[in-house]
Amino acid sequence: MDELRTQLEGYADSLFAEGGILSRILPGYRPRSVQRELFHALIGSLLSGRPLLAEATTGTGKTLAYLLAASLYAVLAEDKVVVATHTLPLQEQIVNREWPVAREALRQLGLPVPRLEIARGRGNYVCLRRLFAWAEPILTGHARGAGTPYVPLAVELVGQAPDLKEGLREEFAGKIPAEVWEEIRADPEDCLYHASPYYDRCYVQRARRRLAEAEVVVTNHALYLTDVARTRAGEAGVLPPHGRVLFDEAHRLADVFPAFFGREITLGRAYALYDEVRRRRRAWVNHAFPAEGERAHLLYLLENFFVGFRATFGEIARRVLPSSALEGSGSDLPSGGIEEGERAGRLTPPFDVPRHEREAYELLRNFLTRKREEFDASDPGAAGIRGFLRRLDALVQDLEFFLGGEGGDAWVYGWSASGSEGRRAAPTEADAFHTSSLDKGARVTSSAESQDRNVSPASEGVTFFARPLDAGEVLGDHWEKVTPLFLSATLAVAGEVDLFAREMGLRSYSTFLAEPPPGTFGQLLYIGVREGPFPPAGFRAPDLHTPFVTEKLKEFYPYLGGKVLVLFTNFRAIEEVAATLSSWAEAEGVELLAHSPESSRDDLLERFRRASRALLLGNDTFWEGIDLRGESLRAVVITKIPFPNPRDPLVAALAARHSGGRGDEFRSYMLPKAIVKLRQGLGRLIRHETDRGVVVFLDPRLFRRSYGRLILQSLPRGAWGEVGDVPAFFAAASGERGSEAGDAASSPV
Ligand code: SF4
Repeated sequence: MDELRTQLEGYADSLFAEGGILSRILPGYRPRSVQRELFHALIGSLLSGRPLLAEATTGTGKTLAYLLAASLYAVLAEDKVVVATHTLPLQEQIVNREWPVAREALRQLGLPVPRLEIARGRGNYVCLRRLFAWAEPILTGHARGAGTPYVPLAVELVGQAPDLKEGLREEFAGKIPAEVWEEIRADPEDCLYHASPYYDRCYVQRARRRLAEAEVVVTNHALYLTDVARTRAGEAGVLPPHGRVLFDEAHRLADVFPAFFGREITLGRAYALYDEVRRRRRAWVNHAFPAEGERAHLLYLLENFFVGFRATFGEIARRVLPSSALEGSGSDLPSGGIEEGERAGRLTPPFDVPRHEREAYELLRNFLTRKREEFDASDPGAAGIRGFLRRLDALVQDLEFFLGGEGGDAWVYGWSASGSEGRRAAPTEADAFHTSSLDKGARVTSSAESQDRNVSPASEGVTFFARPLDAGEVLGDHWEKVTPLFLSATLAVAGEVDLFAREMGLRSYSTFLAEPPPGTFGQLLYIGVREGPFPPAGFRAPDLHTPFVTEKLKEFYPYLGGKVLVLFTNFRAIEEVAATLSSWAEAEGVELLAHSPESSRDDLLERFRRASRALLLGNDTFWEGIDLRGESLRAVVITKIPFPNPRDPLVAALAARHSGGRGDEFRSYMLPKAIVKLRQGLGRLIRHETDRGVVVFLDPRLFRRSYGRLILQSLPRGAWGEVGDVPAFFAAASGERGSEAGDAASSPV
């Protein structure tokens, strides 16, 4: 191993030195000691099998460093490395921009180039069997009514499908409507595997074979966690076996993990089982139940199960929810894991409620199990029933887990209720069940019957949930088998990564923390507004802060000019600011782009890029994952320190757990989480070494509360000034840049 380490580390000179391989391949490449040090840290962890937590800000060249380290390790240690990102743009950057450079660098080192493949979810691929099953009745004129408009599309899809490169949806010329893609995409619950007549030509199977041969596999966090969940459950994984995983954008894992491994019980899940039978009718229901009488019986059992489940759900709602939850008068929550306008609360199981669905579940299950045994395992009918049973069992098991509190103290239990829209929508969907049936003869139940069983219509917008708090319990075994390396521009708080390590369930690990040396990567000018009202303490408290933000935006925009991103923590404030600013923006010729729950982030960003003068008011999703270079963004305005929502039951439980009973939830959890998010927000501004940008803080708590000091100490290096300094800052000649940046003496800390 020492020999291999010496060999791998020896490549650093050839790659990163002045006049080295990267200088020759990449025009304008500037050797950075931090990139080289990161490479050494990565090689050390890959070889030793010790987890690594690495923070490297934009400008350190971390993507190329880890791609080179992973490739060299995979080739020389003969192991597979998975690289997982949170966002698609980063995956595209790895494959299209960084990988060609890494590949050429390996060639120039005289080493074999490893095979790199992208692992995608099955739903991205067309299933040839399902496509032809969908198209056949349409093309032969046997599709009744609804199929006729699809004739030209069916001709196109059937013509193109056999000759695609990878079988991905985007390879088809022309758009495929969502409802059609749903019918023809690959679906693990409706796959015949070896028994499929298209198995040898199957795009999914070809992709699996390519993945098995690859040395470096690029995927996303969600698919990686799916793989972990499946292998934990003893099922086949979706990724090939591997010894190392490298997570970029790793800070997102901590937020995704509890929801991903958690359990949710909703009426919608039970309804989806009915919908599943309706949608899959052509694929497997008609095949498994060719006689009309049998189908009617299946629907009868299914409807009885739904009615029973709905009654049990209503019992839980009636017994454990506060009356305010059902009347819609609970406290609204502004942001965080619980969506704005939702209401939520924590619950303490076990719950002793009558189980109205149990008998119907057993009858339905027995009927389906008996039927499945009539078929060969590879029959489409058996595959369909198998998938359906898995969903049915999972729903009932999740219900039992929730009611019994089976996770104990390591889980948090609670409820959330959607806003008025959600509360109105759910009964409509459920009511549709009672007025429709697949076949004549199915028993149609009345809503009066379900009312008899304690169902409150308001409870239909409610979700009951159980979420794990301890990543170590869920992921600990996995980290024993696979070494994780976590990379992000924001993992640390004041130089410490212990919160993230706890969130990921790591006990022993190495760290690497770095940012580019002063003057080598862009420049920041900070402006802080010290006097003014604080943001309101609660969603219903009087809000003097939002009008203050509006006035400051009007006052500062003439200095900032160009394109300015204003980051908020709730939609209500955005709406208010946008309404007040609209006539001013029109008079000033400033395009005002206000983010709302209905708007598309991509559309807003596209309009922002095209505009010459614009204010983009963005909520949660604009704090990270957007790349606006150079003049695309001149300034970021932080309206409020982005603390997690303490009224979110998950946030409260995680904060209590991380404080370890010391009662310092704010310092040990809420403040570090806010700092990480704040640093993500600032990361939108400097994406390239020639970028310059201004950050404006409109939350006076930053300067007038004791915790503000820790936040200020955690900010990237920059100079502090007044808004009047902005024009000179942007006008400064590039030769002066180095001397201005990193002016620690002007920091307010
Ligand atoms: S093997 Fe499965 S995914 Fe592939 S074509 Fe056959 S049924 Fe579709």
